[in-house]
Amino acid sequence: MPFLIAIGVILILGLVFGPSLWVRHVLKKHGADRPDLPGTGGELARHLLDELKLTDVRVEVTDKGDHYDPADRTVRLLPQHHDGRSVSAVAVAAHEVSHAVQHAREEPAFMRRIDMVKQLVWVHRLAMMVLLILPWTGLWGHSPALALLNLGAVIALLGISVVVHAVTLPVEYDASFNKALPVLEGRRYLSEQDMPAARSVLKAAAYTYVAAALATLLNIARWARILR
Ligand SMILES: [Zn+2]
Repeated sequence: MPFLIAIGVILILGLVFGPSLWVRHVLKKHGADRPDLPGTGGELARHLLDELKLTDVRVEVTDKGDHYDPADRTVRLLPQHHDGRSVSAVAVAAHEVSHAVQHAREEPAFMRRIDMVKQLVWVHRLAMMVLLILPWTGLWGHSPALALLNLGAVIALLGISVVVHAVTLPVEYDASFNKALPVLEGRRYLSEQDMPAARSVLKAAAYTYVAAALATLLNIARWARILR
């Protein structure tokens, strides 16, 4: 029986943390400095946006993960992608620019995703509130059952975020493989030899949100335990 429990724990840990470890591994693996590339990720993003006549979309550095912000119409890249010359920097920049394209064209799946993410902010706030109440229920009520119920509520709320990101995966795939990949391939921003690496980075970029949401799931569970 303890053997089965151990296997179960390993499976759950793999399922929860595996995807984000894989995303990080792929980005790091292809993140080596490549002075032979024509420009940094930030420069490529600016160049592509200008070519697409999306001159009002800004490109900024962030420490909060690569993303496109539809509210500010801004592509934000991590320092190593904004200022770095690597296959990861170039592929991630092309991926985020693709979201700006989806937004400019008001593609239905992308617009639906904006709505869903807005809802997610509320899910997140609600989950954090429950999480703050959680330690008090343990202290005051001395009722593990109630605390467990609270924890269940938090995980359920955050589980919704995993589902929403999974549902919007087609939007991510479209950004990576219908938009970014043809641009990188057709315009020869990367050489033939670099394309397999670029494909892996584009795949990792597509799974970033699902992976992050999964990892948060267990983080919250861990936090809840510490707080009690
Ligand atoms: Zn994306």
